[in-house]
Amino acid sequence: MYRQSLEYRQWSTANKSVMGEGSTPLIRLLQLEKKLEWAGEIWAKCEFQNPTGSFKDRGSVSEIQIALSHNKQGVVCASTGNMAASLSAYAARAGLKCYVVVPTITPETKLRQATIAGAELVKINGNYDECVGEAIALAAKKNLLLCGDYEVRREGQRSIGIELACSGINFSAFICPIGNGTVGCATAEGFAKKNQRPQFIGVQGFGADPLTAAWKNNKPICAIRKPKTIASAMNVGCPLDGKLTLDLVRASDGALVSVTDKEITAAQQFLARIEGIFVESAAAATVAALPKIPQPNQCAKIVLILTGSGLKENV
Ligand SMILES: *Cc1c(COP(=O)(O)O)cnc(C)c1O
Repeated sequence: MYRQSLEYRQWSTANKSVMGEGSTPLIRLLQLEKKLEWAGEIWAKCEFQNPTGSFKDRGSVSEIQIALSHNKQGVVCASTGNMAASLSAYAARAGLKCYVVVPTITPETKLRQATIAGAELVKINGNYDECVGEAIALAAKKNLLLCGDYEVRREGQRSIGIELACSGINFSAFICPIGNGTVGCATAEGFAKKNQRPQFIGVQGFGADPLTAAWKNNKPICAIRKPKTIASAMNVGCPLDGKLTLDLVRASDGALVSVTDKEITAAQQFLARIEGIFVESAAAATVAALPKIPQPNQCAKIVLILTGSGLKENV
């Protein structure tokens, strides 16, 4: 195990990529622009092309590095599915034990990705927010590194914003799905590191949209006890980075919008039919959000963060 860990560390520092995560394609969506009669440019950051099928791989790399340097025996996270799939893969590669705490309703394919890599599943008959409590307890009990939407992961995920800022395109806005808010905040912070401040437009699903409500009414965040959206990756009622999301959205003159299950499903099919891109529903929410942006600046260059692959979502 020791040797495997050492090799992981050397490999990741020498190459900056453990298994090819990051530096994902950035492509223009010309058909979408045409169909929506959009005056500006719409781009897609293809995060679904990361090794385990979501941007979560960027954050898993940083967490595993910390776990190794702190001599932890393993890692644990609460997950709506993709983080479990990602952390398990990177833990396996580093020779670390991985525990994942997931809601019983998590899509099977995402769980299969975790178990095939040897992760131990702890299924909770409850929602994501309840899984977080269980993960914290397990970390303390078994001396594991507590992984999830905390500072270390956000640091890894900032590379999305950095890559976009260095693309030479000069984006005026980005649209990102919001679960805990971590990927949206990380993207905004990555842009800021390169002195760019595009509008941060966050998307939530109706029924799991405490941040949209707080933003619209200019009120503190009121957690939703039983969140319910078809996009399981965004089904979070008490976002860990909720407050930070509101702050960064406001600071960038951005917006928060909510989209219905029906709008998400339609957008997912629309994107596949006109652009050939099959993403999971949370990612498709960014397309559903386009017509709902409060003051569409149609001369804008906007980028959709297509967070995850459609291949592992049950229908
Ligand atoms: C995790 C995830 C999200 C939500 O990201 P947060 O950092 O929790 O806001 C969105 N889409 C996909 C595909 C995800 O896996």
